[in-house]
Amino acid sequence: MILKGFEALQQFLEKPRNIVVVGHRNPDGDAMGSTLALKHYLDKKGHKATVVVPNEYPEFLHWLPGSETTYRFDWQNTQSQKAIKTSDIIFLSDFNALHRVGSDMQNTLENYPNDFAMIDHHQQPDDVTYMYSDVNICSTCQMVYQFIEMNHDLDLINKEIATCLYTGIMTDTGSFRFRSTTSKTHRIIADLIDRGAENDKIHNKVYDTNSYNRLLLLGQALSNLQILPSYKTAYITLTDAEKKRFDFQKGDTEGVVNYALSLKGIIFAAIFIEDKEQGIIKISFRSKGSFSVNKFARTYFNGGGHDNAAGGKSDLEMAKTVTKFTSLLPEYQKDLEISYEN
Ligand code: 5GP
Ligand code: MN
Repeated sequence: MILKGFEALQQFLEKPRNIVVVGHRNPDGDAMGSTLALKHYLDKKGHKATVVVPNEYPEFLHWLPGSETTYRFDWQNTQSQKAIKTSDIIFLSDFNALHRVGSDMQNTLENYPNDFAMIDHHQQPDDVTYMYSDVNICSTCQMVYQFIEMNHDLDLINKEIATCLYTGIMTDTGSFRFRSTTSKTHRIIADLIDRGAENDKIHNKVYDTNSYNRLLLLGQALSNLQILPSYKTAYITLTDAEKKRFDFQKGDTEGVVNYALSLKGIIFAAIFIEDKEQGIIKISFRSKGSFSVNKFARTYFNGGGHDNAAGGKSDLEMAKTVTKFTSLLPEYQKDLEISYEN
């Protein structure tokens, strides 16, 4: 755990400040939940906080309280730049390095004259002025709860904040099932329910709003699934044409990689998703046990993340990307063999 400049940050926040809260590119439930929870909390403390995210986030997160007040850097560039320019400090939430916001926004942040405060649970964080980093915590939303607790402000957690935090903890823990989910996580979740988070409604809003096309796309993904039993590995591919056929919307492929990991005996899963617009194959990796997909993604696919959930990209075309992936597996056969006891 790294806690750097905490008291100095508390002192800085004694006066009302203009604050921007930034999440990573392709924001997920934890990024949106943590940035919006911080916004609501900082507003309640008398500051003026604005959430700026690099690009679009999935429809199933649009209902989050405060979502309508966020700026998208790619689409509302003037407003985003103005918010950043007039801010006294920027909070970086749920990411560990400035390049995670994408090159346009990275450029703006690199020229930012004031300080950054990072709250994040990813490995190898960049060094910024104020830091709260803990790779052992399941989600940034749990860290935001603990940040509020360190400030002795738990009583400021209202229904909006509780809802945002519940959502991020739920999505980053695969609904409280990953190893990172601790008894403390459950105690925090219980407190968030007491403070107004409606757990059944949140699950419903995030998980039960599929379109028919999204289910058909999932069907396509599952029929593309390949299993490599000798490496305890399974992977899925989705081409741009397949995405178009089923009217792909942002977020439609979220969680699909977990189907590969749900196969009996499989401990390493990947999904390769073609993105013609960016000219890349976007990859998600998942594992069970000691095999670190963070290390794998960093070493071979220009990415990173956590030990059991990471992502990366490839500039090669789909078939070549898959070949690169499968040809790496023999080197890791032993590691994959011993990674996880069922
Ligand atoms: P997902 O596969 O759900 O997109 O991401 C899983 C985890 O890996 C998340 O914590 C995410 O922040 C991280 N991640 C995904 N893609 C990348 C990437 O290209 N680079 C890095 N450094 N991390 C990534
Ligand atoms: Mn997260």
